[in-house]
Amino acid sequence: MPEMPEVEAVCRRLRGQLVGLRIRSARVLRCADKALEQAVIRRTVTAVDRRGKHILIRLSGGITVHVHLRMSGNLFMIPDHRLSGASARIIVALAGGTGLVLEDPRALARAEAVGTRLINGEMEKLGPEPLSPVFTPDWLLEKARGCRQPAKLFLMDQTKVAGLGNIYAAEALFQARINPRKPMQTLARMRVERLYSAIVGILKDAVQSAYLAYSGPGDFQEAESFPLAVYGRQGEPCHACGATIRRLMQGGRSTYYCPGCQK
Ligand SMILES: [Zn+2]
Repeated sequence: MPEMPEVEAVCRRLRGQLVGLRIRSARVLRCADKALEQAVIRRTVTAVDRRGKHILIRLSGGITVHVHLRMSGNLFMIPDHRLSGASARIIVALAGGTGLVLEDPRALARAEAVGTRLINGEMEKLGPEPLSPVFTPDWLLEKARGCRQPAKLFLMDQTKVAGLGNIYAAEALFQARINPRKPMQTLARMRVERLYSAIVGILKDAVQSAYLAYSGPGDFQEAESFPLAVYGRQGEPCHACGATIRRLMQGGRSTYYCPGCQK
């Protein structure tokens, strides 16, 4: 599933290519209501924003196209809007003949055209961006206080921190040497500060690596060229201590951790 770094990579690339272009027409095959076709026609793209894992394509006239890539979606430009691939679900024809395509083999991604003010209000429910100045060690400490959530589920909770998903949450906990089952409220100040540094460090690196790895159409892998210490390494030895990496289920998702390093 694309997490914040992958979504940020998608947005960065789109920003350079899409902003300023006028929409000629849109064709919805799946992943959105047909109403999107009329809502976006003849509008100009004014910005491409991101909040957590949400992509917000701002259009003239107070409309935003809100896209969530979910498990396997991808959003990219093609040189000719008539030449989209088999798993294209939404095709937007732009002035000049280029196209914006929402591609998703599993068709789980979602897009909607909504009022900009309405969607901005919705986005306020999300926690702060982990790479924004709002997200600080003190902020994390404040949220951890009295919070019984296990550390991994806390990090996955989009109302706490926006954009962290299964992979980078597991990697941040490994780097901070925190057991994923540990309730947040039991973590000492120093450990919360360590977690803060791990989250920020990993996401900065991951944004950079996702941006380099993301090459437009197809083959979009999360953490494609990001060195993973625990995620997906169940049964393999930990690079730090040699203990065997374990997998457990939390909130219906797999969590990977090192029993030797993470207490
Ligand atoms: Zn270890």
